[in-house]
Amino acid sequence: MSKIKTGFFCQNCGYESAKWLGKCPSCDQWNTFVEEVVHKGADKKNDDWKEYSSQRNGLLTISLNEIISGEEKRIVTTDAELNRTLGGGIVPGSLILIAGEPGIGKSTLFLQNALKLKDTITLYISGEESAQQIKMRADRLSSLSSEGYSTNAKENFYLLTETNTQPIFQEIKKLKPQLVIVDSIQTLQSPYVDSSAGSVSQIRECAAEFQKFAKETDTPVFLIGHITKDGSIAGPKILEHMVDTVLQFEGDSNYAYRILRTLKNRFGSTSELGIYEMTAEGMREVSNPSEILITQKEDQLSGVAIAATIEGIRPLLIEVQALVTQSVYGTPQRTVTGFDLRRLQLLLAVLEKRGGFHFGIKDVFINIAGGLKIEDPSIDLAVLSALLSSFEDISLPLHLCFAGEVGLSGEIRAVNRIDQRIAEAEKLGFEKIVVSKHNFKNVNKKQANIEIIALGKVEELYKYLF
Ligand SMILES: [Zn+2]
Repeated sequence: MSKIKTGFFCQNCGYESAKWLGKCPSCDQWNTFVEEVVHKGADKKNDDWKEYSSQRNGLLTISLNEIISGEEKRIVTTDAELNRTLGGGIVPGSLILIAGEPGIGKSTLFLQNALKLKDTITLYISGEESAQQIKMRADRLSSLSSEGYSTNAKENFYLLTETNTQPIFQEIKKLKPQLVIVDSIQTLQSPYVDSSAGSVSQIRECAAEFQKFAKETDTPVFLIGHITKDGSIAGPKILEHMVDTVLQFEGDSNYAYRILRTLKNRFGSTSELGIYEMTAEGMREVSNPSEILITQKEDQLSGVAIAATIEGIRPLLIEVQALVTQSVYGTPQRTVTGFDLRRLQLLLAVLEKRGGFHFGIKDVFINIAGGLKIEDPSIDLAVLSALLSSFEDISLPLHLCFAGEVGLSGEIRAVNRIDQRIAEAEKLGFEKIVVSKHNFKNVNKKQANIEIIALGKVEELYKYLF
């Protein structure tokens, strides 16, 4: 007997409610609830994965002593950045969500990695592109760069263009892949749910089917998912709880640099980060990002300052560019790329109040080189210095960098991992670094071969710079 059950789902965050609501109690969005059929009541025949793996002989319980401890055998890809963000390779049976804006290069990254995997039968399920399109892309990737692509890997790479999960799992049963990549989860459709592809209940059901498959067969599955501009994973915020690992692929599509960030990982640290450069040959790993992100010019320009930041656990020296000009129109403009607009307004207010700089009649532009989005608050001091440098139209000294957070009363606050920042600055040939005086106490001075300038207030920064 089939029973139809429906529910109301917030299309923004996946919140489920028995009745329609005007405002979502979870994400505070208005008018986002849509009624979806949850179960058609059909028998789930393809749920049975017991025959797939021979290790299971019907016994579900296992004594703790029988479990072989030690490192799990991970699939190590040729991509060091990907391995690192996954915590040292792909864990068998894990479900991994790759979230990112459309067009940022998620498919390229996973296609190229799958093509380089040796001795691993990989199934790439595409609901977005045709087999010809993917073949063309794969040929382009491997013809432009012969590095790492082997014929063995290409033989083990299988493609399936299908969106219905039932035929997908039938193919999986025949092929017995060792790795599955789904591009994208929003295009899939399960016959057990009546709503359209991309709706919350569909995404949840399809992900659940893959989760069951991954756990019962020990096959790792990558789910590629598109996210909306504001950064939330469109619809399937709910997926974040179901999967073992969430990787976010981010970057400005106008720039070449991409960051692969670990947001959740059951098998490793969440502070890992991979950096890529998008080239014609695909995604290139950037093993020493600081060297590329700084355009060290001999003729210094005003409005440029270098920040010693930490992204995840990696020290990263980044160029901050500021432009302060006389405002032509009545309302001064504030424009930021890679930096938080509200943070800029706060820093401008601090400069106005503490230093008497009248930014109220100026247009202000802030740009973080490389199109990267920096979340580390230690970038404040560099932003402030770049603003002052542009305001005064005096360039800052060469080989000087900054690491400090700025508080509301103009105090320069201590930041974490100061020794790591100093070491990175030193490695890249910087001669001076400006830090908070509260950090200075804890700095390992013996090690530092670099002059450390310890300041307490924004006023002292101005005096030091000019
Ligand atoms: Zn919601």
